[in-house]
Formats: sequence, structure tokens, C-alpha cells
Amino acid sequence: MYAAAIAALSVTAAQPAAAQSNYDARFVAYPSYNGTDLELLVDGSGTHFKLWSPTAEAARVNLYDNGRTGAPYKTLEMTINPSNGVWSASLPERLYGKFYTFQIQNNGKWLDETPGVWAKAVGVNGKRAAIIDFASTNPEGWNSDKGPAVKNFSDVILYEMHHRDMSLHPSSGIANKGKFLALTERGTVSPQGLATGIDHLKELGVTHVHILPSYDYNSVDEANLPANQYNWGYDPQNYNAPEGSYSTNPSDPATRVREMKQMIKALHDAGIGVVMDVVYNHTAENDGSNFSLTAPGYYYRHREDGSWSDASGCGNETASDREQMANFIVNSVKYWADEYHVDGFRFDLMAIHDTETMNRVARELKQIRPDIFVYGEGWTAGDSPLAVERRALKENVSKMKDIAVFSDDIRDAVKGHYSNAEDRGFASGKPGNEETVKIGIVAATAHPQVDYKKGNNSKFPYAGSPEMIVNYVSCHDDLTLTDKLRKSMPDATDAERLAVAKLAQTIVFTSQGTPFMFAGEEVFRDKKGVHNSYKSPDSINAIDWNQKATYKDQFDYYKNLIALRKAHPAFRMTSAADIAKNLKFDKIDSRKQPNLISYSLLNNANGDQWAEIKVIFNGAPAAQTVSVKGGNWIVVARDGKIDPAGLGSSQGGKIEVAPYSALILARE
Ligand code: CA
Repeated sequence: MYAAAIAALSVTAAQPAAAQSNYDARFVAYPSYNGTDLELLVDGSGTHFKLWSPTAEAARVNLYDNGRTGAPYKTLEMTINPSNGVWSASLPERLYGKFYTFQIQNNGKWLDETPGVWAKAVGVNGKRAAIIDFASTNPEGWNSDKGPAVKNFSDVILYEMHHRDMSLHPSSGIANKGKFLALTERGTVSPQGLATGIDHLKELGVTHVHILPSYDYNSVDEANLPANQYNWGYDPQNYNAPEGSYSTNPSDPATRVREMKQMIKALHDAGIGVVMDVVYNHTAENDGSNFSLTAPGYYYRHREDGSWSDASGCGNETASDREQMANFIVNSVKYWADEYHVDGFRFDLMAIHDTETMNRVARELKQIRPDIFVYGEGWTAGDSPLAVERRALKENVSKMKDIAVFSDDIRDAVKGHYSNAEDRGFASGKPGNEETVKIGIVAATAHPQVDYKKGNNSKFPYAGSPEMIVNYVSCHDDLTLTDKLRKSMPDATDAERLAVAKLAQTIVFTSQGTPFMFAGEEVFRDKKGVHNSYKSPDSINAIDWNQKATYKDQFDYYKNLIALRKAHPAFRMTSAADIAKNLKFDKIDSRKQPNLISYSLLNNANGDQWAEIKVIFNGAPAAQTVSVKGGNWIVVARDGKIDPAGLGSSQGGKIEVAPYSALILARE
């Protein structure tokens, strides 16, 4: 069970803050070290090893010719600087091409070898760190490479994908299937001649890809490729090196680095930003993790009895509230932003981290590039010794600057409960979700017409700004939207489900905040009903690009929906005050007209060319009639069609809204 698989658990009741246990208290006295030269530095004077391990009794470096096999050709004894807990050893030559591990002595015993916590390049399966010349890994033009400039985070459109899902199916037409290089190939097409890969992303119009874990993770045997092994990658091993199975040669440490950079550069050249999914909240192993083998106990939280605390649901949880763990997280994301030009970070189970550390993450990233986007899951998967008020929870997002959280409010209200497959939501005909959808529409900000007491999940306006909210109806976790609609609408036709899917995404993409979609939903992707596909085979996970032709109408709708959002800043307001002033809900009695929401974006909101945009959602299985004031309206969306340039005109008055559909009107 991996974090993301159960990550949709919200913390609802506040627990009392657990007392700091005696077991943990001893770690507070550890000295910390915030230098970026930890573990390995190669410079003009040679190769320098530095290991942070304040309580080790001895430490050494083992040097190897090979990334996997053979005995060390040399072992270096290290010496400690007690003021910062850092052990050092140096050699006068530059050891490019060699590999190393650390070992510490703890309680009289030498622990297992570890590549350390700061390995930036590794041998196959990440057991030994590699010494490579990073300058040699830069693709042509790398020095001038940069992602798209982001003015406001509400301008971002996120597309969540997994490397294998995007390219593995034969219909992708992509040569480097399941690899970083898949997203460097241009001109790839489906059997029907429709764009796939990077060209597909450009055609769809998303601004950023959010890629499932791409750091080195534990579960896939890199030495045994190309077996049909699949994992989402929420089982971190080496946080600062790319995953080997996504490279064309996992045995060559430089290849994975170079190919990941090539991917990022190709996306940047296409005007698309790259967000990394980062999972600092837990590690795949407990006693065998690189954290445990370098500083036993320190990096994790424990219960009063000394056992592993487990807010991740994966067997352990890290301790961002300790100085050196905070240093690690901050320096790790800064490293990816610097060395790989990564444009954003999605924090898995972010509420396991403390708000102070998350604020430091955003603040220090901003010094590298002010438009790096940081967001995360504002919940945990279990209880934690970290006090509730310190957790980077959704409910605490207003304590964090320049950080956004996922809105489970809009997610569950629109499509139905995430884990109860049969449950329906606003868009699929279940009454009673209207107020929670409104919470989503205003991005969980305070609004005079939204009654948070009626909210299903959140009971107060937790977001101080729409830039603190990421809206979505589905992601890699739980059922795809297609599967959810098949399970919750068993008697419906696919035509009805396609209509519901359009409506659901129309709600997400017209709401305030940042919209997020799961890869392939624009082609009605399913996962054959599998709820948790974290290690399901490609036959479940891979996107079948033949469906782009089958569901061409769906794809076109998504494309136009994105174009509408991009063309109209009224959907992308940047302050709660603007939303309260410019977004007005029409009075609808939901007892008489359930599953109906109507609102206006007024006053040329946020500099929009349109004076007013009328947005109406009918999530009922029957048509409903609304009254729109008279005027010269452009019809932007109606009856499952959408076109930012207009589908026709309307004079207002009584208008029928088709079942499971959105009606969007605008006037100059
Ligand atoms: Ca790996």
C-alpha cells in the first residue's frame, strides 16, 4: 500500500497534540549542517566526501569501479567535525566514473552500506552512488533552457501523468516507450493519425505536466528490464537521482540524468512546464533506508513506545520538524529546480510536513525562480505525533505563503465520494452537493453567498486566496473518472457518461483556483475498473490512444474548455476579494431544482473582455429551465458543445439546459 493509494483520507477531527516523547527528544540536540556540499563534491582539488552522522562512532567510504558488483578497491576512513556532525574524507584526484558507499558504526556495529541520502547519480538499482561530471549530462542549449513564465498560479493548467501510461501502448506511435525520452519525440501519432505525446499535450493546451515520481524508487528491478514491471513510484529510495527504469540504460549513471534533462528541455521547448511529484513524507524501507543507515532514528517520527509512527500508511513517516530533515527537503527541491530546471513540486501527503518547513520550501524556491509552483495533498493517511496546528493541512493553508492544496471538496462533490465507487455527485445526478460545489467554484475562499456550514468536507473558508487551491475531479488515485461513472451510473449509456464527464471538467475548469486533470481523461481513459493501480500491469494503466479517434468529440470539448479558460481571466481571479465582488450566484431553490447552479462573473472580472459571463451547470438527469436576463448573449457552451469563439447567440429569457450539461453565455 502506497501513500497516494490511500492519500485521499482527510483529517476531519482535530486530535490533541501528542507530547514530545523522550525517545524523540534526544534528536533535538543533534547539530545540523545546511551546506550543499554534503556527501560528494568534485572540484579542482579532488574528490571530497562529507557525511552528516552526528552520533556515528566511526564512518568510512567504500570506493568501487562498478555500480553493482565487486569488492571495494579502496576504503577511506572519515573524521568527524563534532560542531556540525559531519564526517569527511578526501582524495586528490577527480574520481569520475567511480562509485561509492558510506558505512557508519553504530552501537559497536558496522551498519550496511548506503549510497547516502544525497546521491545525485547512482548505479543500477540505486545501491551505490556514482561520481559523474554533471556538466557532461547537459543537452545542447541547456544553459538557455527555461520553463514557461507563470504570472499567476491560477493561470497554470496541470496535467498529471505517469511515464509508462503516456507512451507504453502500441497506439502511442512513440519509440521510447515508458522512458523519459518518450516526451522528447515530436510528430508522433496514433494509428488514426492523431497527435500523441508532446504534440498531444500542445494540442490540448495544458501549461504544465505533473509527472508521477521520477526520482529513484525502490520497487522496479532496473537490472531486469524490459520486464513488464510497473509502479507509480511512491516508494522513495534515492531522492536526488532520477529513476533508472525510465532511462534507456539504467546501468550508466549519467544516462538517466541526461535523458531526464532532455525530456524537460523538450517540454520547455514546447512551452510546457514540468512539475515533479515529491514524496519526502516516508521512505520505502525503515531500518534499511538511506536515512536510517546514515543517522539511525533521526529522520523519522516515533511513537511514545519507540515504534515507527506511520502517518503515511506506508510503515513510517519522516520528521520535517527536525532541522536536518527540513534542510534535506529544502535543499533537495532546490537541487531539482537548479540542476534540472523543474518548474514546480507536488508534495505527497504534505500534511506530514510542518507548515514552517513548507513555507521555507516555497520561500527558498522563490529565490531561484519566483514562479515555481508548490502544492500538495493537505492531508495525512494516519495520525502523527506532529501537532495538528503545525501540519501542512488543507485547513492550515492560509498559514502558508505561496503554497496550494488540492480541493477534495470539489472532487467529491462533483463526482461522488472517492472511495465509495457507487456514490454519485452533483454532475452525475445526486442532489445535496450544491453548496459544496459552490465552495469549489469560489476556491474555498470566504464568499457572502456560500454557506460553509452546509459543506460536505470543509466547514469554513480555509483558503485566503484562490492561488491556494488546486481543483480536480480525479487523479492517479482511485477510479478514473470514466470508471467512476461506469460504477456509479451502471444503467446509464456511455453517451450519458461522456456528458457527465464533460460537465464535471467544465466545473473544474471554470472554477477559481488552478485546474488539474488526470492524463487520458480527455480520451475517456479507463483503468478497467481498478481502484488502486499502483502496481497493475500496463494493460490496466497504459492509455490507449486509439480512443482519441473514438472519443474525438470529448477531446475537442476538453481542448476548447482549456482554450476558454486561457482566453478569459475572469476564470482566473487572484484574490478572495475579487471573487467576492465579481462572482454572484443566482438564487435557485435546490429543493425544487436540485443539481442546478447558476452564477455570473461580472464587471469584466480580472480584466476580462467580457463584461459578464453566465455559467450554469445542470447535473440532473432531466433538462431544467433557467431564467437569464435579456441581452445580447454569445452562447459559449451548450448541449455538450463548447467554443470560446461562440456557438451562436441568445437574447436571454427562459432557457432550457440539457441533462448533465453546462450552459455558458457571455456578453461584451
Ligand atoms: Ca529505482
